[in-house]
Amino acid sequence: MKKFERYPVSLTNSLSGKKEVFKSINPGFIGMYVCGPTVYNNVHLGNVRTFLTFDIVSRYFRFLDYKVRYVRNITDVGHLENDADEGEDKIAKKARLEQLEPMEVVKHYTEGFHEVMRQFNIFPPSIEPSATGHIVEQIEITKNLLDKGLAYESNGSVYFNVRKYNQDHHYGILSGRNIEELMESGRELDNQDEKREKIDFALWKKASPYHIMRWPSPWGEGFPGWHLECTVMSTKYLGETFDIHGGGMDLKFPHHECEIAQGTAATGKTPVNYWLHSNMLTVNGQKMSKSLGNSFLPSELFAGTHSLLDRGYGPMAVRFFMLQSHYSSTLDFSNEALQAAEKGYKKLINAVGLIKMMDHSGKATTNAAVDAELSRLVKECYRTMSDDFNTAKTLAVLFEMSSRINDIKSGAIQLTTLSPETFTDFKNTFLGFVEQVLGLKEEQEQNDEILIGTIGLLIDLRKKAKTDKNFSLSDKIRDDLKKLGVQIKDGKDGEMTYSFD
Ligand code: AMP
Ligand code: ZN
Repeated sequence: MKKFERYPVSLTNSLSGKKEVFKSINPGFIGMYVCGPTVYNNVHLGNVRTFLTFDIVSRYFRFLDYKVRYVRNITDVGHLENDADEGEDKIAKKARLEQLEPMEVVKHYTEGFHEVMRQFNIFPPSIEPSATGHIVEQIEITKNLLDKGLAYESNGSVYFNVRKYNQDHHYGILSGRNIEELMESGRELDNQDEKREKIDFALWKKASPYHIMRWPSPWGEGFPGWHLECTVMSTKYLGETFDIHGGGMDLKFPHHECEIAQGTAATGKTPVNYWLHSNMLTVNGQKMSKSLGNSFLPSELFAGTHSLLDRGYGPMAVRFFMLQSHYSSTLDFSNEALQAAEKGYKKLINAVGLIKMMDHSGKATTNAAVDAELSRLVKECYRTMSDDFNTAKTLAVLFEMSSRINDIKSGAIQLTTLSPETFTDFKNTFLGFVEQVLGLKEEQEQNDEILIGTIGLLIDLRKKAKTDKNFSLSDKIRDDLKKLGVQIKDGKDGEMTYSFD
């Protein structure tokens, strides 16, 4: 019997707003798509929380013996500045400002993103497609929607006709928005507007003469709309209807609502059975975001060089911090919470080290009560994780297990009072949940911590030298670190980040 038959998973489906028992389309196989980053910037800690959530989801399903095809894209075109149909393309803008080719921007930030994912022990997806690699498919689906009369061309751009779609379907099914309200809200249409109605959204945008990312199409030179890329890439690799689609809560509207409309209109099928949305990482109750100026980078977190941080923290302590809350709740960043998480993480990892050294001799005079208690904890791990991936409750169970491990070490529980089967099950479950499901491992070597701490210290000294106008010292620190392969980058307001060459 496969584990997933024994431990059915329930999850909160954003489509119904309710907890539902998960059933995959193909037995034993799960297709999952998650919206990836727009690679024009370094990912901040908020982004990490979302990608961590879906790392946990895919890890747990795999742990339950499902085969998972996890597709997470790279957005390298089409995401405009205001998340709607206006403004400059985020990547094109960065390329213009830095006098780079857009693909240089994309490569640089994609590599940075991968490095951050590796630091946090977030597994790579099975497929990582990029929007620019799927222009042909995006043109094809646009033609399909035009043929069906659900889209219209206007001045070289193509827009989705939301009102027409809504005659036979429900636009707003995911976000719960009402089309009439949407018509009222937002910007007024002016005479220049190419759209027939405010809520219509772009499938294809005409490129202005200055727009650098452009492809030929039946409607002239242009570029695809942001929502369309996810519809194309998800259906290409997972089919017209697939199991799970995820992303941060802020993508529900308009991005995911538009994906549902396009997919349904193009194929006549419901594109996704379960929508999962993770909640935001906040700072003093406000969403962490680059534009609000309250975001910080993982490298600043490790080195403790950001003004919001009292010191540096390793990636595993941060991972633990994030797992202490349920993915559907907001999580507020604080130094105190990080400190507590670091302690908790060390305690748990200590128990991992202990149990790895323990072996049952095979001889036992079983104490039924102790044996039953350990078996109960094993079941509790599965129960809590299968209940909407409740990592917070699972951690609480793992702490109870750590206490029992310490009891075994101290002799308060004799290994011989446990049946060999119970002990093996207990050991494998504890290690499996900590390492494979939650992805917590021993923080690299202690040396890494010392190195990170030392770089942080040097950065602090360099900041002080700059404040004191001791520029020869600040330059020396920068140049000597560079010789050692550590590149310091000066940001706005005196902030400094670093990377290894
Ligand atoms: P972006 O590159 O801005 O499209 O964001 C990539 C992913 O990070 C999306 O799924 C966003 O929903 C998510 N995200 C952005 N800000 C936060 C935050 N403060 N907390 C959690 N997730 C976030
Ligand atoms: Zn997307």
